[in-house]
Amino acid sequence: MRSVIHTATRFSAAFFSSQSSRKSTSLFSAASIHLRKMAHYLTELRGRPNATDYRVYLKTSDGKYISPFHDIPLYVADEQECGVPPKKFKTNEILFNMVVEVPRWSNAKMEIATKEPLNPIKQDVKKGKLRYVANIFPHKGYIWNYGALPQTWEDPSHTDKATMCCGDNDPIDVCEIGSKVCVTGQVIQVKVLGILALIDEGETDWKVIAINKEDPDASSLNSVEDVRKIKPGHLEATVDWFKKYKVPDGKPENQFAFNGQFKDKDFAIEVIKSTHSYWKALVMRKKMKSDEIVCQNSSLCESPFKCSDAEASTVVEAAAEYGEPLPVPSEATVALCKDCHSKPSQLPLKQ
Ligand SMILES: [Mg+2]
Repeated sequence: MRSVIHTATRFSAAFFSSQSSRKSTSLFSAASIHLRKMAHYLTELRGRPNATDYRVYLKTSDGKYISPFHDIPLYVADEQECGVPPKKFKTNEILFNMVVEVPRWSNAKMEIATKEPLNPIKQDVKKGKLRYVANIFPHKGYIWNYGALPQTWEDPSHTDKATMCCGDNDPIDVCEIGSKVCVTGQVIQVKVLGILALIDEGETDWKVIAINKEDPDASSLNSVEDVRKIKPGHLEATVDWFKKYKVPDGKPENQFAFNGQFKDKDFAIEVIKSTHSYWKALVMRKKMKSDEIVCQNSSLCESPFKCSDAEASTVVEAAAEYGEPLPVPSEATVALCKDCHSKPSQLPLKQ
């Protein structure tokens, strides 16, 4: 077992923002009071990195296991008191929590396991094999810290008005373009700058562009245009990466809505708000169908899926003990690169 303290994140829980109805706010106010005590998140590693049993669980600084999908508030809103929004809550000041799944420059496709209790982060498996993204020239692995906004859900039963495609059944994705390399399971606070509408195998798969508020460039970056000026090439590289990343798997290039143009920050925040509302409906459902998203959580008092601390501990205790990382299979790189035009390169032995 190994625990890692992530000291950067401090928040007072505000499950529902200024955009929430009074009714929704009151439903969750008790949870807000409880979670305000937390100053840090920790990760607990289980299983072996680069193996199918590897899991990254999240817990609070006082040892309570939580779901990174459901228990971390979407909005940072430090000044929020018992669900009451601060007087100044302008678009420019909104900070979001982001759960980092994949560190920048790494290849293992790590993601929140939406269909497992407490939703740990695990490596995606396809056809029985762990997934690694190829290095598609000139990129190396994921070119940003990649992750998700908690308490959001792209509802597969909802057809997006802008893209005319339905959601991909996951939390909304984020590309964090700061210079710091984060770690899997780290929770950082980000400013949203824009959004890209990827159409992935017929599903809407929004990609939020954001910057870590701790990044030296964060104060200068407030829009897509700022990214274009201050970080030239980042937007173009992002489109190129998403267009091609499934080609090595034998799939066609991905498509984009809006002709691959980034939408601005205000548009992005509206999309995030809508995915937050779909998430609210998800966790308040009376019961789940089989083979669906697991909504077990530790803090949402009115959710039918809230569990006790003991129940949450039982979930983690049942997972495999932490073990030394396995080497990445060398054939993974070759197999991934055989159908694309990228230069095959060696994946790191340890992720
Ligand atoms: Mg997605």
